[in-house]
Amino acid sequence: MNRAEHFDLIIVGGGMVGAAMACAMGDRELKVALIEGRVPDLSWPKAAYENRVSAITRASQYVFENLNAWPQMVNRRVSAYRKMEVWDSTGGGHIHFDSADIAEPDLGHIIENSVIQAALWERLKQLPSVHCFAPATPKQLQITQQQVSLTLDDGRLLEADLIVGADGGRSWVRQQAGFESKGWSYQQDAVVATVGHELSHQACCWQRFAADGPLAFLPLDEKTCSIVWSTSPEHAEQLLALNEVAFLKALQLSFGDSLGKMCTVGERAAFPLRLAHTTRYTGLRLALIGDAAHSIHPLAGQGVNLGLGDMSSLADTLSAAKIRGENIGDMAVLRRYERARKADNVLMMGAMDGFKRLFSNDQPVLRFARNLGLSVTDRISPIKQLFMQQALGLASNRSSLAKPPSNV
Ligand SMILES: Cc1cc2nc3c(=O)[nH]c(=O)nc-3n(C[C@H](O)[C@H](O)[C@H](O)COP(=O)(O)OP(=O)(O)OC[C@H]3O[C@@H](n4cnc5c(N)ncnc54)[C@H](O)[C@@H]3O)c2cc1C
Repeated sequence: MNRAEHFDLIIVGGGMVGAAMACAMGDRELKVALIEGRVPDLSWPKAAYENRVSAITRASQYVFENLNAWPQMVNRRVSAYRKMEVWDSTGGGHIHFDSADIAEPDLGHIIENSVIQAALWERLKQLPSVHCFAPATPKQLQITQQQVSLTLDDGRLLEADLIVGADGGRSWVRQQAGFESKGWSYQQDAVVATVGHELSHQACCWQRFAADGPLAFLPLDEKTCSIVWSTSPEHAEQLLALNEVAFLKALQLSFGDSLGKMCTVGERAAFPLRLAHTTRYTGLRLALIGDAAHSIHPLAGQGVNLGLGDMSSLADTLSAAKIRGENIGDMAVLRRYERARKADNVLMMGAMDGFKRLFSNDQPVLRFARNLGLSVTDRISPIKQLFMQQALGLASNRSSLAKPPSNV
């Protein structure tokens, strides 16, 4: 019989959200076990951009700054964007956002997912109370009133007061808890790739809407963007099968000439898009954060930002419970986290779903109304300023980690 190792909490999943949670709890000197199936690649420099990137809000930047992981990201590479151009290719509707209009230096950053994860794992090396198990996968979970017992695939036994599922959309922890995940497929895939183009992107995120889905160009180097092209699964399959020249031609046709000629394309991949929301975020001695709890359409780049909101809120809840002398696995404690996050997440998921439906509807009346709506909104400064505050993640209730660090 294996001897058990004891922790305050076990986190399953060391992606962007789980690794951030481990940093937050390690900073507060809780004893943490972080279980990750794949060993993260920490090597640097890398010449080619990864085709998976995230638009990171100001609120999430504050989270990384407070966790002391932001300098590692900047040392690798991050790309600030100051503007957004959004237009509807089925009419003349157009809207433009500029950070200068709200006296901000930028509207956010585009960062490769692997850069975010690597910077967080580098930070974890400096936190002695966090023990990383990678590669490792959980095999068996038992939860009693007193504790959590988790057996890993290699037979090691871990015990803790709480288990946190940060293991993504197909969460094993969520399945063990028996929580139902409700939602639907968008019948769309997102094709992603790094694209080189003739003209400068001007630190701008470009997004064009069409009936088959949005196409976004997210700025990296001056003449390089990461694209997210949401389209039907059949079209996505065709796009992946095209040779480089034919793909660039199709992209040019769909996007237009705002960035000049499309010149190069890196490795392409496609991801099926779903809306999913678990019925519960918490159970006895168990909590879900990030995509383990919810997945949304990437059209406004909010998924990981919501996940970081979850993790900051849970970190605050657990710290407050510790100070009060409560057990961090108690339902009463965990429900505070669920109450704090669910409303925000439902609001954002509803908004993204509404946008997706509005822009993929080809009825002439609706098409006319949304094109008019975009152009009219473009002329109303207060509404645009509100949108920009929302995009920065500064409009909603924020936990301590999502506030500016005291030295800023
Ligand atoms: C095309 C596309 C573009 C997107 N763009 C944006 C954007 O611009 N901005 C934004 O905010 N969001 C964006 N998102 C959403 C974002 O990628 C997700 O919300 C984010 O990856 C969720 O992070 P996570 O850590 O919760 O889960 P994941 O990234 O899925 O990480 C889960 C981790 O858990 C590990 N794991 C899983 N199961 C186990 C197990 N059983 N044992 C051990 N380890 C396990 C995995 O290896 C992984 O490391 C986009 C999504 C897509 C598909």
